[in-house]
Amino acid sequence: MPAHFDLLIRHGTCVLPWGVEATDVGVRNGRIVALGAAPDATAERTIDAKGLHVLPGLIDPHVHLRDPGDKAVETIPTGTRAAVLGGLAAVFDMPNTAPSIVDAEKLAWKQEYVERESWCDIGLYVGGTKANIPELAKLELGRGVCGIKIFAGSSTGDLLVEDDEHLEMVMRSGRRRIAYHSEDEYRLQDRKPMYKSGDPHRRHMEWRDVECAFLGTRRLMALARKTGRPAHILHVSTSEELDYLKDFRDVATCEVLVNHLTQVAPDCYDRLEGFGVMNPPIRGPEVQEACWRAINDGTVDTVGSDHAPHSREKKLLPWPDCPAGLTGVQTIVPVMLNHVNAGRLPLTRMVDLMCAGPARVYGVVGKGRLAAGYDADFTLVDMKKQRRIEDSWIVSPCGWTPFAGMEITGWPVGVIVRGHQVMRDDEVLGAPGGRLVRYTG
Ligand SMILES: [Zn+2]
Repeated sequence: MPAHFDLLIRHGTCVLPWGVEATDVGVRNGRIVALGAAPDATAERTIDAKGLHVLPGLIDPHVHLRDPGDKAVETIPTGTRAAVLGGLAAVFDMPNTAPSIVDAEKLAWKQEYVERESWCDIGLYVGGTKANIPELAKLELGRGVCGIKIFAGSSTGDLLVEDDEHLEMVMRSGRRRIAYHSEDEYRLQDRKPMYKSGDPHRRHMEWRDVECAFLGTRRLMALARKTGRPAHILHVSTSEELDYLKDFRDVATCEVLVNHLTQVAPDCYDRLEGFGVMNPPIRGPEVQEACWRAINDGTVDTVGSDHAPHSREKKLLPWPDCPAGLTGVQTIVPVMLNHVNAGRLPLTRMVDLMCAGPARVYGVVGKGRLAAGYDADFTLVDMKKQRRIEDSWIVSPCGWTPFAGMEITGWPVGVIVRGHQVMRDDEVLGAPGGRLVRYTG
C-alpha cells in the first residue's frame, strides 16, 4: 500500500533542524508525519514546492495588535491577516491594549476572541502591574499564555513596574520566563525636561539614551540572578547590553528587532520623522553593527518586529508628542529574507531566530522545527523573488510601513498552519482558524 497523506509538499528545499535538504514532507491530521515520501505516495492535496524553500512556520514573538483599542489602527483579524500575508504562521501578542490584559477576566475574553478571529496561531502575553502580582503565578499558566510582560520603562499604555522592590516581587511570583521592556524609568523621567515639543525627531535617541537601556538591563540582571527567575530582554538596542548579557546566560535570553538591524540614525529620523520613532530608539551605525555581530555570534535568541502601529495623524504630531511604535508584522519576513540574500546571516540562522529561538525561549510545544510529530506549520519562500515594499500592500488599517520603498530579494509565497494553507501568492485563503499556541508551562 503506498503511503497516503492529507497534504504532501513535494520537491521543496527544506530547512531541517540538522541542515538544508531536498526532501518531501507528509502531513496527516495537522501534523508532520514524514520527512521523505516514496514516489508512489498519494495525498488529498499536493503542493509543488519546486524552486522554493520550505521553512518551519515562522513566528514573530513580539507584536502589539492593539485589540481592544482603535479599530482604525489595528485589530486581531487585520493584524493576523497582515501576519500571514507577510509569511508568519504564529505571532505572540502583547498585553498593553485598551484595556490591558492583566486579569483572568480579560484573559478569558481574549482567549475566546482570538480563537474566533485570528488567521494564524497566536500566543498571548499577560501584563504585570504592581496591583496584580499575587495573580501572576496563575495567569502565566493560562491557555495560550507565552509569558508575563513587564514594562520596566514606560512606553505605550499604562503598564509599568519601575522600582526594584516591585520588580523583585514580580520575579518571586512564579517560575516561567518573564519578558521585559528594559529602559530605566527614573532616567527617562529625569531627562524628559531637557527636551521640548517641536525638537528634531533625532532627539528621541538622546532622551532615551544608551544608559537608559543599559542601566535598565543591569538592574534587571541583578534581580534575575538574586531571584533565579529567567528573563527575556526584549528589543536590545545597545552594544553595551549585548556584551553584558553574554555573562548572564544562566538567567537571560534576548531579542533584537528587525528595525535595529535595518534602520539607522540619524537617517531614519531625518527621512521618516515620527514614522521612525520607536522605543527603544533606533540608534547609530555602531549599534546596528553590534546587533549584527550578536546575531552572528549567537548572543541573540529571537528576532521580532515589535509591530506597534499608530494612526498617521498621531505620527504626524511634533516630537515628542508623536507616539512611539512602528508597523512591522507584515514586513519582518521579507526584510529578513533580504538580509539573508545580502549575506548578513544564513537562512538557517534566520530560521533559528524565528522558529527554534521563540520555541526555546518560551517553551513552545509542537512548533519551531520541521520534524515528525510537530505541527504542520510551514512558510514557503521564493529566495529569488524581487519586490518592493509599498504602503498600498499593508493591510493594517493604519496603512503605512517604515519600510515603504525598500527593494527586497526573497519573498514569502505561502503559509500553512497545522496543515491548512492560509496564504498563497499574496492571497489569504479560507477563514480565520488560528489556535492558541501551547507551552510546556
Ligand atoms: Zn513592544
